Amino acid sequence: MTTILRNGLIVTMNRDRDVFRGEIHIEGDRIAYAGKSRKPAGADARVIDCSGQFVLPGLIQAHVHLCQALFRGDADDLSLLDWLKKRIWPFENAHTAPSLRASAMIGVLEMQKSGTTAILDMGTVKHTQALLEAVSGSGMRYWGGKCLMDLKSASGPLREKTADALKETEDLVREWRDKNELVEYALCPRFAVSCTKGLMEAMVDLQARERILIHTHASESKDEVAAVKRRTGRDNVDYLDSLGMLNEKTVIAHGVHLTKGETNKMARSGTPLVHCPSSNLKLASGIAPIQAYVDAGLKVALGSDGAPCNNSMDAFIEMRLTALLQKPRFGPEALPARTALELATLGGARALGAEDRIGSLEEGKLADVITVDRSHPSVATVENPYSAIVYSCSGRDVRDVFINGREIVRDGRHAFLDEGAVVANAKRERAALMRRL
Ligand SMILES: [Zn+2]
Repeated sequence: MTTILRNGLIVTMNRDRDVFRGEIHIEGDRIAYAGKSRKPAGADARVIDCSGQFVLPGLIQAHVHLCQALFRGDADDLSLLDWLKKRIWPFENAHTAPSLRASAMIGVLEMQKSGTTAILDMGTVKHTQALLEAVSGSGMRYWGGKCLMDLKSASGPLREKTADALKETEDLVREWRDKNELVEYALCPRFAVSCTKGLMEAMVDLQARERILIHTHASESKDEVAAVKRRTGRDNVDYLDSLGMLNEKTVIAHGVHLTKGETNKMARSGTPLVHCPSSNLKLASGIAPIQAYVDAGLKVALGSDGAPCNNSMDAFIEMRLTALLQKPRFGPEALPARTALELATLGGARALGAEDRIGSLEEGKLADVITVDRSHPSVATVENPYSAIVYSCSGRDVRDVFINGREIVRDGRHAFLDEGAVVANAKRERAALMRRL
């Protein structure tokens, strides 16, 4: 069956950044046509009128924590290491398989409804099977896996023996290799603070063997950089480099406090960096110099990080902040709206090694497509589409979402999840989890 998105303003993000009024045809999991002329619809085609809407590639968030969605609002006004030790690690440790599933589902529901079609997620230490099964049924394009933490002095209640963490990871990699075309396993050592050198080296070996992503945090706060330096004698990314971890398949969240040398090493090795501006502000971590990173040739993507350090998972907010935050430091022309949208689409696709499949609306690419209503008074008069999308729209303007050609959201409502049941279950599981602390 063909689905035709007709009469919208199509913001392609293709090589020429073409923007035109026209139509998108979705056939199976692919974009079969993206063009200006009206093509005849077959007898069984479904036509969706997108008048008054933007049609965009789905937004990509390359750093999130679905496991933390239930803790939103329970960890405000703390700095990173206190936020982790006092709240997040005990909360994650209190998860059962049902509470982790509930957390994943309300996180996915929020992100899909606000236009995010692909994520790189970090699980928690336990119950990863339940997490992957939950996302498998959600229609989300997903990279992620079990979080690994094995350094006794710096992992709180989540610490595992190195051999146990590695054994479970290898079993999960094997099991999920070809299980679901939308789910790709990613190795998730939490950060250098909580991981032994031996564990990190094992991650590098496993990545080389399996050709899969490593997903970790680095240089988010000054205290974290100092903790890594005390133990290893090196700056955070320099330390990862000494382990052989910098390459195109290692996605590093944050990088707020990189030295010039570290920035150049990431650029030269093609190591992607994920900017999470809301989280960096809320935890008082600092403001990453993204314009300088882009100029240095770094691959930059965006992410909302965990719900309790944001407290939203709406990618529109991250695009807006990404643009705004660079201007006081680099001047008003720094990081224009179009660049912010590039980071949230093509940038995410590049970070995930999926630029040939997603990130733009082009014939032959997978059909991850969203439509965004432009009738709200905040946006109705804005002509420049990039300015409208980045500065004036929000995730609550998203109307339709397709992932891999499948309809996920229709006119603002989830197409197959019972939204009320997902929310009720999350409330129930959150209350039960808080009683387990
Ligand atoms: Zn994070």
